[in-house]
Amino acid sequence: MLKLKNVSKFYYNKGQVTSGFSKLNLELNIGEFVVITGESGSGKSTLLNVISGLDTYEEGEIYINGEETSYYSETDFEEYRKKYIANIFQNFNLINSYTVYQNIELMYILNNMNDNTVKDKIMSLLEQVGLTKYKNTKVSKLSGGQKQRVAIARALAKDTPIIVADEPTGNLDSKSAKEIIKLLYEISKDKLVVIVTHNYDQVEEYATRKIRMHDGKILEDTVINKVKSTKYDEKEYGNPKFKDKIKLSFRNTFNIIPKFLLLLLVYLLLSLSVMGEYTSTLKSNYDGDKFGINEFFSNTDDTRIIIKKKDGSTINATDYDYLNNLKYVNRIVKEDVLLDASMGLSNENDFYINGYISLLEDFNGNLDAGRMPENDNEVVVYTWEDYYNYNKKGFFEQELNMTESTTGKDMLDYKIKIVGIKFLEENDYNSKIYVNDNMLKDISKNINSSRSKVIVDINGKKFGDEEHYNYINVYPNSKIDKGKAIVPDTMSYYCKNYNCKNNNMNIKTVNIYYSDDIDLSISNTFNKNNFEKLTGIKEYDRYSDAIFVNDEDYYSMYDKEPYQSSIFIKDVKKLKEVIKELDNNGYTTLHVKDALVDYTEELRVFVNLFKAIGILIVLVAMFFISYFVIKIILKSRNIYYSTVRILGASKKDVKMLISTELNIVLDIAYLIIVVLSILVVNDIVKWKYLKDLVTYLRIYDYIILYLILFAMSYLISRKYSKHLFKKSAMSTYREV
Ligand code: ADP
Ligand code: MG
Repeated sequence: MLKLKNVSKFYYNKGQVTSGFSKLNLELNIGEFVVITGESGSGKSTLLNVISGLDTYEEGEIYINGEETSYYSETDFEEYRKKYIANIFQNFNLINSYTVYQNIELMYILNNMNDNTVKDKIMSLLEQVGLTKYKNTKVSKLSGGQKQRVAIARALAKDTPIIVADEPTGNLDSKSAKEIIKLLYEISKDKLVVIVTHNYDQVEEYATRKIRMHDGKILEDTVINKVKSTKYDEKEYGNPKFKDKIKLSFRNTFNIIPKFLLLLLVYLLLSLSVMGEYTSTLKSNYDGDKFGINEFFSNTDDTRIIIKKKDGSTINATDYDYLNNLKYVNRIVKEDVLLDASMGLSNENDFYINGYISLLEDFNGNLDAGRMPENDNEVVVYTWEDYYNYNKKGFFEQELNMTESTTGKDMLDYKIKIVGIKFLEENDYNSKIYVNDNMLKDISKNINSSRSKVIVDINGKKFGDEEHYNYINVYPNSKIDKGKAIVPDTMSYYCKNYNCKNNNMNIKTVNIYYSDDIDLSISNTFNKNNFEKLTGIKEYDRYSDAIFVNDEDYYSMYDKEPYQSSIFIKDVKKLKEVIKELDNNGYTTLHVKDALVDYTEELRVFVNLFKAIGILIVLVAMFFISYFVIKIILKSRNIYYSTVRILGASKKDVKMLISTELNIVLDIAYLIIVVLSILVVNDIVKWKYLKDLVTYLRIYDYIILYLILFAMSYLISRKYSKHLFKKSAMSTYREV
């Protein structure tokens, strides 16, 4: 059956070579009960390990059923071990965290013999070794003798032709030792048993052959009982089924609770830090988007949505009721145009403050100086403290104009006064001018007018439209009668008989929200001489080409309920939801941030490249940190994995067991984080760090994150397996 010809085994250790045994010649056959004795260090264990295919040999040739093995690969030896060898060790090599039953079941699983008869088989084996009532006891709780019985039952589970036992009684008292040897003898009919012992007396009555070793050589080889060499009918053993490997992985994940908790902790931290890295990238991309510059909108808050009615009508009280009750809406700014219009407050000389218009009712906090407004023409400002300090004298109560900052156009035909100030808070750069409702209406109609195009039509001759490209100014004036207009003398050219008086005129105003028009009759024409008399204005040269109409007529075109408002939502994440809801209810929407023009596209490519490298470095660092921690935690598992290997599992199977075990822990850790995220989002659990993270995550981000973590975990298990298999199963085992 087994034949060794001049076989030598050397150990290489830190440059030193020691000999396990040298130039052994030996032939072993089925039916023999071979006892090997010899003093410690004489090479007995080395011989058994080589015979078992657990260790390699360096010289000579071993024949298995006449077949040479010197060219055997690792998998060939795995096959050989599966088919032929069952090992019993001095220190049992059981899985201490498994029950007796599970230890034996493991053997069936690893050799793909785990069918529905297994339960009965295990029970009859347990009966055979007298351990029926310890079926569900953890192996760690058994005595030495009982442990060795489990090991024997396990060896028997795989019905191999060769049983190799290295000092099976070495750790047992003499009574148990006797019983174990007897048991071994009983099960060994038609098998080759090779047993190493210090105590030959114990085995004497069963031995058919006695081999004595000394210093790596065989000193004595005595056949006591000649046995008839029988032939063994070979069985095939497969590899574990997929579902059994999953079952084992689950068992391994949870059977040592402290190890499980440690791994869970590592994976929780890994998940959170990868999540943090991921969201900080999302966030900076997102912030980067906000750098886009836009010509129309000054207020580019990412929670701002501009709305209009789809039918083009004004937004009325019913609309505001609806909008106010909308989920996720934080606040509504009815006079939307104000958000993007910055105004200047100035006197004729040196005083100038710039700010956005806000409603007094939105003013919160306390004034730092002055008082709250009492009249329609009084405002409160929110601006730099320094500015106030330099202009203290005359800051309040002086008469100021309000002009649009970009165009310099007057917004009000009356003077206003600042009566109170609140100082800008730190990190706030947006000054504000707080006005009351009436002033707001005046400002907004002026904004409407300044953003509208005016087309004047006299007798079918048009001024100010695209075709003619000529430019016309229309001004409100209280000295003009209602329904009337005055035009410059120079326009006579376009009038009937060169006389404009009593000609009809139509003024049309067009802006992005609506168009409106009024019909007027020309009451007079003006020139340098009568201009001041007609209008009350001195500067003729400045207005020599303008048309003047009654101010009420004029403002009837601009004093409109808003056609456009802005809403601010509570949470950018709900943007799509809100927009969809609005769309279904008759509003067109514009998310300001999405309307931004990005001038930094090309620059961004480089920024992203550097960012990607940065992320990669962080991920690699986290990978190695996790790997080293997990390696330390799994060190206590080395013995498990090498035992599984010794029992006949292939490298591939063990790799899968490791990666599945780690993956189960990862899944649990990730599930915990997902559940926590849900709780945090719904404010059931308060955890600011996580809340900040998950604000930026959508479902597909969670999937991407999982895939990243999965890949990391898989690579960790690969690296660990590689480390584990650098050495043979036996040397890993020995190390432990
Ligand atoms: P026995 O089992 O008879 O006590 P071993 O087979 O364990 O003896 O050892 C035989 C020889 O091989 C001894 O000289 C021992 O020092 C050496 N040896 C055994 N295992 C190793 C090893 N892993 N590395 C180096 N030398 C070893
Ligand atoms: Mg030994």
